[in-house]
Amino acid sequence: MLILISDAFDDILPKKLAQYGEVTDDISRQAEAEIILVRSKTKATKEYIDASPKVKLIIRGGVGLDNIDLPHARSKGITVMNTAEASTTAVAELAFALIIALPNHIARGDASMREGKWLKKELKRTELFGKTLGILGMGRIGTSLAVRARAFQMNVLAWHPDVYFSDFAEIRPTLKEVMAESSYLSMHMPLLDSTRGIINKETLAYCKNGTYLINTGRGKCVVENDIIAALDSGKLAGYGTDVWNSDPPENTPIVKHPKTICLPHIGASTKENMLRIGYITEEIIRDYVQKKSK
Ligand code: NAD
Repeated sequence: MLILISDAFDDILPKKLAQYGEVTDDISRQAEAEIILVRSKTKATKEYIDASPKVKLIIRGGVGLDNIDLPHARSKGITVMNTAEASTTAVAELAFALIIALPNHIARGDASMREGKWLKKELKRTELFGKTLGILGMGRIGTSLAVRARAFQMNVLAWHPDVYFSDFAEIRPTLKEVMAESSYLSMHMPLLDSTRGIINKETLAYCKNGTYLINTGRGKCVVENDIIAALDSGKLAGYGTDVWNSDPPENTPIVKHPKTICLPHIGASTKENMLRIGYITEEIIRDYVQKKSK
């Protein structure tokens, strides 16, 4: 049995998986692989799946399954699993890092010092204490972020299409209410037809002037040109993002805008998370091999 590691996983994983079969990271051997391990880089499209005639199991190290054509995989009897729990802490901590960095001008202050500038008068900070954070998508990461925000004594609101109660946030019935009442908004919904472009000029109009928007969910959930317009008009005071329309982004004005903080999709990239993804991946493969031998 050939196990293809198509994207970046923990360095120790090939050694651990060697007990279950031959392990390779040679993507030219895709057609021979029975198990394929991907993260977000490999796009397991219909064409990719059709070019993998032996594959029985695709494991997505991480959460979002939007890089895998699930209906097509299912139609071919391929099992698709992810390591959903592993990335929660890593992404929640990065979202909170952006929530702290934007109103404290951490990136701009540091860049200006390196340019020999002294912006002590210009860089006015605001505090998080007593401010309202609105969480869009109150799942694992959203809930973990809410716990962190409450430790900073923020008020936490959330909107979710089918959650009506949370111990960690006041749930509001509509997106509009959360957007209108929050000074900070953090996005944690998956990329679905219902969330593609959900943050656009119509929904941004619900926000108070000077709202900070953080996106560690998916780049395609926002309309980038509408974000730029909102930053220019002052509707948004800042946009902190880890996620893009493509990795890396092509020609987006978001990267150069003075009110943004931009990261290269590193939400899941902690040492600890890579280990957790590795443990869960090994468990999935162990189960698969055991079931196969029965
Ligand atoms: P989760 O499934 O626990 O939570 C997402 C929640 O959003 C779910 O509860 C879902 O019901 C809800 N939701 C669905 N449609 C919605 C809608 N229209 N409006 C609001 N909420 C909606 O997933 P999670 O582990 O919390 O991860 C959330 C997302 O974070 C992933 O889907 C992925 O896109 C993103 N992510 C990003 C990184 C990164 O590197 N930046 C890493 C991991 C995950």
